Amino acid sequence: MTLQLTHFINGKRTAASERTQPVFEPATGEERGQVSLASVSEVEQAIAVAKAAQPDWAKTTPLNRARVLFKYKALVEAHADELAELITREHGKVFEDAKGELTRGLEVVEFACGIPHLLKGEHTEQVGGGVDAWSVNQPLGVCAGIAPFNFPAMVPMWMFPIAIACGNTFIMKPSEKDPSTPMRLAELLTEAGLPDGVFNVVNGDKEAVDVLLTHPDVQAVSFVGSTPIAEYIYSTGCAHGKRVQALGGAKNHMLVMPDADLDQTVNALMGAAYGSAGERCMAISVAVAVGDEVADKLVAALKPQVKSLKMGNGMSGGMEMGPLVSAAHLAKVKGYVDQGVKEGAELVIDGREVGVPGLESGFFMGGCLFDKVTADMSIYQEEIFGPVLCIVRVPDYATGVKLINEHEYGNGTAIFTRDGDAARQFCNEIQVGMVGVNVPIPVPMAFHSFGGWKRSLFGPLHMHGPDGVRFYTKRKAITSRWPTGIRSGAEFSIPTMK
Ligand code: NAD
Repeated sequence: MTLQLTHFINGKRTAASERTQPVFEPATGEERGQVSLASVSEVEQAIAVAKAAQPDWAKTTPLNRARVLFKYKALVEAHADELAELITREHGKVFEDAKGELTRGLEVVEFACGIPHLLKGEHTEQVGGGVDAWSVNQPLGVCAGIAPFNFPAMVPMWMFPIAIACGNTFIMKPSEKDPSTPMRLAELLTEAGLPDGVFNVVNGDKEAVDVLLTHPDVQAVSFVGSTPIAEYIYSTGCAHGKRVQALGGAKNHMLVMPDADLDQTVNALMGAAYGSAGERCMAISVAVAVGDEVADKLVAALKPQVKSLKMGNGMSGGMEMGPLVSAAHLAKVKGYVDQGVKEGAELVIDGREVGVPGLESGFFMGGCLFDKVTADMSIYQEEIFGPVLCIVRVPDYATGVKLINEHEYGNGTAIFTRDGDAARQFCNEIQVGMVGVNVPIPVPMAFHSFGGWKRSLFGPLHMHGPDGVRFYTKRKAITSRWPTGIRSGAEFSIPTMK
């Protein structure tokens, strides 16, 4: 029997929806099963369940909410291999990378285990004579999360551990391309002791998302995905009175200075550009070489490495790169490479026709390397989201910074240099949300917050860390005077502190 991926509502898997679509195993190209696409009424049912569960969950002490997450952490660790295999089978990334993704997600669970401390408000005694003031952080109610295909475990785990630790209930809408992992993550939450209805998974497409964006009982929406959809989520959710954080696409540049350590830079570029077949929002897709000499050296060093990337089924050991997620995405990425050639970029390594023997129906392509890419080309302007690295040549540091700052995306960037002064200047003036100094993929740890600038993020608050707690709580400020204030009688002019 093929896999039936339905929904997880009120602590159990539901029956299949009327509409379904296939889920593929990208390495073989075979269909694994069918994922249900929720109808309006199925999403409404999940919202009603989450709403009903919320008051009791909010009353559960933060300490006891954290204790569920402590158990959850242990359970996810015990099931790490099983979860990583689900990621690899449906996404395609190599098994070790899938385990790494799980670890990064678990770090957010670890952060959320500190929720009793994180929820503490502020207190000031004697803001006026006999008057004290303090603030508390209270849950919002029902929150929703909408995730992309490229991190089926980590991105949901950026969201729900903090949301539920804060006393909210949650509805997760995973990517319809790889829904098995979030379904398993939900079952493990129940096993950890989370009451039914606190965490629910609704699978689906635009129809399900639109209910979450417009329903009056959903208070907040966290989204991660492509920029056009992020913008739609932000504007629609906000127009319906919701708090929204919507993280979008990226085009991450690495500025390579003439004094950079070449071996270190090349190693960093290989992992950051081709790891996970380039399907990472923090992948480096543009190397900006300062000076022709640096560019020539980079191309010469990258060429043999890109050509000999170990590509295969992510479940086989020793692989560096797996397939792309779908046949449609493979065609799209190859289309970008065709376009780059037409636009006049120099295709140094062409991976378009590189496949894996024995896996001819898998969604594979080899790594591609473009040199002499210019800012007017579509392969420079648009997010390709595949194993394609573009090299742009600039004459000096200032031109490189200007190029990066003028790009519409501003998710991540890095500078590779041995010069502390150049690095410091770069950190100060670069218009990008996450910056690495000799670190190619500067993903902030769970106790910091993750988010880009410009069209890589819509909304003021970043994901997880301190911003995550702020996003999933509302602050209440209390000013209190008693008992003498009551004894002294009513005041009819605006209160000022005496
Ligand atoms: P996507 O935008 O196609 O889909 C994301 C989610 O939105 C999915 O759950 C999908 O079902 C839903 N969706 C798709 N079309 C919709 C529509 N018309 N209306 C409502 N909902 C819709 O993104 P993807 O292809 O799954 O993921 C890749 C993208 O995600 C890339 O652009 C990547 O850069 C981005 N991403 C960004 C970050 C970040 O932190 N900024 C992290 C991971 C991925």
